[in-house]
Amino acid sequence: MIPFIDLKAQQKLIRNKVEERIKTVLDHGQYILGPEVKELEKKLSIYTGVKYVLCCSSGTDALLLALLGLKLKAGEGVIVPAFSFASSAEVMPLLGAIPIFIDIESETFNLDPSKLADTFKTATEMGIKVKGIMSVGLFGQPADMKPINEFAKNNDLWVLDDAAQSFGGKYNGNNVGNLCEVSATSFFPAKPLGCYGDGGAIFTNDPEIYEIANSSHIHGMSKNRYEYDRIGMNARMSTIQAAILLEKLEIFPLELKKRQIVANNYNKHLNDLNLNIKLPLLKSRFESSWAQYTIILPDNINRNRLQEELKSKNIPTAIYYPIPLNEHKPYKNYPVSKSGLANTIYLGQKVLSLPMHPYLTEDEIINISNNIHEAFINNWK
Ligand SMILES: *Cc1c(COP(=O)(O)O)cnc(C)c1O
Repeated sequence: MIPFIDLKAQQKLIRNKVEERIKTVLDHGQYILGPEVKELEKKLSIYTGVKYVLCCSSGTDALLLALLGLKLKAGEGVIVPAFSFASSAEVMPLLGAIPIFIDIESETFNLDPSKLADTFKTATEMGIKVKGIMSVGLFGQPADMKPINEFAKNNDLWVLDDAAQSFGGKYNGNNVGNLCEVSATSFFPAKPLGCYGDGGAIFTNDPEIYEIANSSHIHGMSKNRYEYDRIGMNARMSTIQAAILLEKLEIFPLELKKRQIVANNYNKHLNDLNLNIKLPLLKSRFESSWAQYTIILPDNINRNRLQEELKSKNIPTAIYYPIPLNEHKPYKNYPVSKSGLANTIYLGQKVLSLPMHPYLTEDEIINISNNIHEAFINNWK
């Protein structure tokens, strides 16, 4: 079986160094808030060019801490794409706030800035005070942040970037993490930069957002221990995970280059087949971290059968995401932009993510492409 994401190939390269790092933590014994967490925050700050980095317990907690830092209150609204992982929308209702669902662009899978005005109007007409926009860099490519930031500025909104998949990407030469007020990422093992457990981080140049998030991630602690400024949570990053990430961060830039080569190879070999598949579009002035390589299938292909046939050839595939967020039971009563969700609904039926990781060889990609070719011929209605 070709692994969908191959974490073992990476581990082989850095195993000794990771073991050394873990051993250091076992020796000093500061499992919570140990020196590796501070070291990682410093290195991530240098990597992104962002002033304040706060490491925490997961990508979802990072989004929640960012919203606390932005002082989002119950009843207030946040515009969010309906085509994303559940975390992007679940953090608003946890604070009593309201996700307002917006459509994505048909070619990048990211928030469609041309629909912001209609979406804002939808919520305003319902009496909801919109406070912010959550952009999502789905599959690795950042959202089109310039028009999103402009709309936000003109309407007195903030922007929170869910960079769980796009960390390592760039937009107009700027690193993801540094594209708006505050960004959140995930270090879940399968993400482009993953640890060996749960982990996440927020990135901001705003000292107040950082201060509130920092306090909130340790129970709302004040400058003095056991004195509390606010209601908080326990969302600290484990020191061992920080130690592992320090080694992973060393090879991250090289892995991003390898991911781009893998994407180029897919583009080349799938293009050569002339199958009427839409390949993922990387816009100019954007860099993707290629968390996923996601194709759009033509209408006459039965996706389930294609997946079955590929599976029988030991090629795993995945569907991110088959059901728009607003159609899941817990989200059914939240508003949808009056401009609709046509791309979200259509792409949910047509997308297919192929194996993607930095160590995928060109031979493996040729094999995957040829098997897609064969399956298409067998599948053609
Ligand atoms: C993975 C993911 C998250 C959540 O990250 P966790 O670390 O699993 O909590 C949030 N948003 C998106 C788009 C993701 O892909």
